[in-house]
Amino acid sequence: MPDSTSIDVAILGGGPAGCSAASWLAQLGLSTLLVEREPQLCAALRGLEFRQDWVLGQPASALADLALHYARQVETTPGLALRLGTRAESARHSAHDSAGAWTLQLATGEHVHARALLIATGLRLLRPARYFAVPHPRVLDATALTARREALPPGRVLLLGAGDNAAENALFLADRGCDVTLWARGSWRAQAHLASRAESHPRIQLRLATPLPDTLRPDASGVSVGGERFDLVAALLGFEPEPSAFALLSEHDRPHAFVAGDASGRWHPCVQTALADGVQAAKLIEQALRPEAAAAAPQRFNNRQVIHLQGLRFKANLGILDLERSGPQPIQVDAEVNLGALPIVARDADIGRVLDYRRIRAAIIDECTVEHTDLVEALVGKLSNRLMSLTGVVGVRVKLTKLEIFPDCEVAVSSETGIW
Ligand SMILES: Cc1cc2nc3c(=O)[nH]c(=O)nc-3n(C[C@H](O)[C@H](O)[C@H](O)COP(=O)(O)OP(=O)(O)OC[C@H]3O[C@@H](n4cnc5c(N)ncnc54)[C@H](O)[C@@H]3O)c2cc1C
Repeated sequence: MPDSTSIDVAILGGGPAGCSAASWLAQLGLSTLLVEREPQLCAALRGLEFRQDWVLGQPASALADLALHYARQVETTPGLALRLGTRAESARHSAHDSAGAWTLQLATGEHVHARALLIATGLRLLRPARYFAVPHPRVLDATALTARREALPPGRVLLLGAGDNAAENALFLADRGCDVTLWARGSWRAQAHLASRAESHPRIQLRLATPLPDTLRPDASGVSVGGERFDLVAALLGFEPEPSAFALLSEHDRPHAFVAGDASGRWHPCVQTALADGVQAAKLIEQALRPEAAAAAPQRFNNRQVIHLQGLRFKANLGILDLERSGPQPIQVDAEVNLGALPIVARDADIGRVLDYRRIRAAIIDECTVEHTDLVEALVGKLSNRLMSLTGVVGVRVKLTKLEIFPDCEVAVSSETGIW
């Protein structure tokens, strides 16, 4: 292993998004090094042996098999270097570094100089410490349940959560003869068709809008939850972006740093969106690293468009103070939505070809008024996610101001997400 490597692009994370970006970057002629902390590429998919129909053209295929295909192609792509079973311990950006703007130090001691950095580190399961502090074979997370569910004997199963994963597992287990209790602190987050099937299934008992149990007490024959007994409990409480790579970067100084796949939170998390997002990231990186190519094609690449909505004022249910809980308060939202490089529209055209700013305004008002939110920071996060999910959006800046919280000043929180 060399002490030092200089390349165009370093990718952290070798799942479908990282592999797809790596393959495209190599074909675009950009030297690429992919760092994966597990000993194999597509590690998250390797244990998923069940047959799924989500991937078009691959009906009834196991993600474990797709993982092998993706890995094999990446492993044999010329111009693509792999570092498996290691991770970056630090990432430093320097505008004056002649070898490359980013310097990563890997756990192996190797220094990697890269002109651009792509983070494709996926999601991690939400595993509350109060349930998982001491591992027990009768208390499972989503990955463990998926791996074991085909072989589970009929019994009493408690599923915590009310998203797609919980609903789909409840139906699967109930159809196999289990008596399933589905317990969530809120209402359904699952797709309507899954929720209605679960509601009418005779073996599924629903316990929605109920605070989750403080503790689970597993033993050799079952799990005690309050006064109840279950054979098995699975906490299916969702995911969050895997933080390890983001923690290496400073909050504000991220030039030539890109995010792809589930880690971006832009799209519905699945294999196909991860593959597509890897391609998109590769093209954006090419544009960033080859400004001469962009200059040669000004019609296509020199037209970054940003939609600005300033001073949007309305009332929202927000805050933790008593007076804030008693009714809505006036707020102001300022937003900038980056659409990235677009073809220049030099003639009047169909509104369907551009992002209609009425949709942005409606999305902001809807997100801020649909329910009460305690923290202004959380509402800014929800707004950012919502705007990032609009078609074509690559970056979002949001500022949310409480206009009347104090008699003598306004209070605002702002954030910047995605590519700027
Ligand atoms: C139980 C389960 C079932 C699923 N079922 C389906 C399904 O049926 N169909 C479907 O399409 N999708 C399914 N998904 C979702 C799908 O697996 C993901 O959407 C997809 O894998 C996302 O790809 P990604 O490359 O963004 O992230 P991942 O596949 O999560 O890849 C991220 C990679 O980054 C690595 N990594 C993390 N941190 C670091 C670091 N600091 N340094 C280096 N490497 C790092 C990880 O080891 C991992 O290999 C399922 C997911 C789960 C958990």
